[in-house]
Amino acid sequence: MRQFILALDEGTTSARAILYDEEAKVISVGQHEFKQIYPHPGWVEHNPEEIWQAQQTAIREALQYTKTCSAEIKCMGITNQRETTVVWDKKTGIPVTNAIVWQCRRTAEEVEEVKKQYGETIKYKTGLIPDSYFSAPKVKWILDNIPDARVSAERGELILGTIDTYLIYRLTNGQTHVTDPSNASRTLLYNIKKNAWDSDLLEIFSVPESMLPEVKPSSGLIAYTDILGETIPIMGCAGDQQAALIGHNAIHLGDSKCTYGTGNFLLMNTGKQPVNSQKLLSTIAWNIQGETIYALEGSIFTTGAAIQWLRDGLGIINTAKETETIAQSIQDNQGVYIVPALTGLGAPHWDQLARGTIIGLTRGTTRAHIIRATLESIAYQTKDLIETMQQDSQTSIKKLRVDGGATQNNFLMQFQADILGITITRPKAIEATARGVAYLAGLGEGIWMNPEELPTLSIESDDFTPKKSEQERERLIKGWKEALEKTLTH
Ligand code: ADP
Repeated sequence: MRQFILALDEGTTSARAILYDEEAKVISVGQHEFKQIYPHPGWVEHNPEEIWQAQQTAIREALQYTKTCSAEIKCMGITNQRETTVVWDKKTGIPVTNAIVWQCRRTAEEVEEVKKQYGETIKYKTGLIPDSYFSAPKVKWILDNIPDARVSAERGELILGTIDTYLIYRLTNGQTHVTDPSNASRTLLYNIKKNAWDSDLLEIFSVPESMLPEVKPSSGLIAYTDILGETIPIMGCAGDQQAALIGHNAIHLGDSKCTYGTGNFLLMNTGKQPVNSQKLLSTIAWNIQGETIYALEGSIFTTGAAIQWLRDGLGIINTAKETETIAQSIQDNQGVYIVPALTGLGAPHWDQLARGTIIGLTRGTTRAHIIRATLESIAYQTKDLIETMQQDSQTSIKKLRVDGGATQNNFLMQFQADILGITITRPKAIEATARGVAYLAGLGEGIWMNPEELPTLSIESDDFTPKKSEQERERLIKGWKEALEKTLTH
């Protein structure tokens, strides 16, 4: 009989279901989008019921495609958009309001106050810099603003969860209220050093303890689901970025991956200890076979978004794809640098007030130089982040694994290798997130006995090795530093 792992990848805009075989090869994919709800400027919500329906549709699609029957599914794993929060009635399962999405800024002002008062304590316990991005302020908002919610919560009638928790609750017909450490570590309520919910943090955010899910390992038996007719164990669970880290087989200290999407997300495996960093976030990567592995994380706001701006703002390209040939059509940047601080600068510079800069314009500057400089800015920003990560972790990154839409750009990947002076590895199967949770589920099920046994051979990749001389690299980086100096406000 064929045996498969079913990975559910619930993202910000769509729910996907991917069927893997026992060598972690993709057999089929189902995908279904759901609505983005914007009730006010800066607010973002999802309808939890719609997410659940989209997830079920995606599962049906994935199974139909290969005529898979549920008896062939050995285990299931769940990875999800992180931090997005749902509060629901423990008895009826009905959410008291829509899910508040990670991008939602409705609690920004309130969090600034919390940060002033408790920023240091929170950073020490959670590894996070307080921000409306994370779950706790979203829960507080729901309890403070939805009629009767706080009273019901204090009576123990309401429970909370990130999307993994909500999906597992639905998959088990309301029988199981759980999460995993990688998701818990994004709530601002979880002490990553003690690996436990933290009563001081619960008090800071006025969240009753009775609302919290139980924390299960990221790999191992989490629950059983009957929704497909057979009883299938849910054996893996992790937030999307952490799942992508293991999906790239980044299982050793210093192994790193960078996702190039709208923004860039860089994660480094820092081993069994969390690293204290002023400029980066410390988080739990996963807990496998009783061992917790930590990661350092940094994000850059504007990378692929700068390419979107070339298309939609400046109107100088029609598609993101064409930037590759346009950049390759000229010899070099001719001194043109762009710092795309369109919404301020994130890690490692953290300058909210900075705004974009273009330097080095001459009569010879053409649209191609602007396009090339924008692509190069993605590589320079990533370099700055990687340097900070190396310093703070005192670990050198010898090879960088990449995924995400913008990694399709060969010019960008080669330039990234040149600027970093290390090899960039781009797997051909770019679904690192879903593959990561398939790994976690397979490890839990015993398909692979430990992370060293995960199938790496099936991951074919393109490698980009540095080609520029040290001198040339230094000359280019000097120009970037000058442009950055002109952009920073502090
Ligand atoms: P997200 O998950 O954040 O939506 P994706 O991983 O789908 O992002 O990547 C989309 C982003 O990548 C867009 O911002 C787009 O501008 C950029 N992008 C896509 N293809 C290319 C390309 N060939 N060259 C440069 N940027 C690209």
